[in-house]
Amino acid sequence: MVRFDKIEVPKEGKRIEISGDKLKVPDNPIIPVIEGDGIGPDIMKATRRVLDASVEKTYKGKKRIVWFDIYAGESAQAKYGEVLPKDTFKAIKHFIVALKGPLTTPVGGGYRSLNVTLRQRLNLYACVRPVRYFEGVPSPVKHPEKMNVVIFRENTEDVYAGIEWPKGSKEVKKLIKWLNKTYKLRIRADSGVGIKPISVTGTNRLVRKAIKYALEYKRRSVTLVHKGNIMKYTEGAFRDWGYKLAIKEFRDKVITEEELWSQYNGEMPQGKILIKDRIADSMFQQILTRTDEYDVVATPNLNGDYLSDACAAQVGGLGMAPGANIGDFVGLFEATHGTAPKYANKDVVNPGSLILSGCMMLEYLGWREAAELIYKAMGETIKQKRVTYDLHRLMEGAIKLKTSEYASAIIENMG
Ligand code: NAP
Repeated sequence: MVRFDKIEVPKEGKRIEISGDKLKVPDNPIIPVIEGDGIGPDIMKATRRVLDASVEKTYKGKKRIVWFDIYAGESAQAKYGEVLPKDTFKAIKHFIVALKGPLTTPVGGGYRSLNVTLRQRLNLYACVRPVRYFEGVPSPVKHPEKMNVVIFRENTEDVYAGIEWPKGSKEVKKLIKWLNKTYKLRIRADSGVGIKPISVTGTNRLVRKAIKYALEYKRRSVTLVHKGNIMKYTEGAFRDWGYKLAIKEFRDKVITEEELWSQYNGEMPQGKILIKDRIADSMFQQILTRTDEYDVVATPNLNGDYLSDACAAQVGGLGMAPGANIGDFVGLFEATHGTAPKYANKDVVNPGSLILSGCMMLEYLGWREAAELIYKAMGETIKQKRVTYDLHRLMEGAIKLKTSEYASAIIENMG
């Protein structure tokens, strides 16, 4: 049995286990939860209430989440004297699925970002961001309802590898000198230099996850988004390796866009998933102009970073955008916004992003009916124009609710 230093595992509840390539989820799984800093406690309280209510209503007491409080960020600093204690990593690894509020990265605290550190140390290589529209949410586009994509963004390579040196440093001088001499380049001496690694390993595991998701959720296509016309051996290779993997591992279930036209006359055969690719700049146009042609997306880190926020903006912004960071099994489900410190403990912000991340978590557990009930109830609440301040200021005739009241309204709408 795994031992913890300063936290106590709940007496009730069971651990999620791994069986073959699947999770074996008990009816009362222990789920570690990091409340988060700033607005974290407000949105986490609301989220737990909504998730608990939905599970209770859906399964009539047969299933229940057993929450297990663990610590990161300011709360961990207070309890452990450090922001990312060992207990936290151990708990997430051991219990496999966890929920997390936003964290403040202390300035000058030795971390580039707590969130990135958590993802890297737990090897959560896929950042998964579904983006869909809820009727009634104010949007800057005419047809926000056409947006329904799930973005799989690589989390460990590309710019997230974090390999760079500042202008004038010993390392950069050495590197520039060597590159210029060995490869006859002309990199300016006053440059900072970053390295962008993209590997077969990183690409394959991400694209595999995206295709498996598309198959499981009966989606129509997987689009590989890259900037391969310019960066041929990183971004272009991501595309090539992605196609290769799709054909090697999923041959009977997928066709490529090239095959669609050369073999099927542009008519999609029943029951197959289309694998296509788009250059990143074109993708940004297309997601605006031909939104409903896109479905599941797999992409390296930086493209995914921009694309996730651009898609979220089309359907009402980051306050509503859920996310998860997932490895081979371990999944950390979290709000995509930050700690919004000016609203901390005021019970005013929108818990939507964390609640929807909680829904992704329920789906990951295989409790899809409970997630569906929340999607429906949240949709209904927004249609009734009962919303938090952020949406209230954009909607005519809306009723402004506190964070806790909004959670109650969602629960009420579960019927
Ligand atoms: P932020 O916390 O996301 O807040 C920026 C603004 O976004 C807020 O002032 C608010 O806008 C709006 N907002 C964010 N969450 C909202 C919610 N739930 N409901 C309604 N509106 C919401 O970004 P930041 O101020 O740049 O970052 C603050 C801290 O968060 C930093 O320490 C940063 O490191 C951390 N951070 C953590 C994560 C994470 O843990 N995943 C992610 C990003 C940033 P209005 O003022 O217009 O109402």
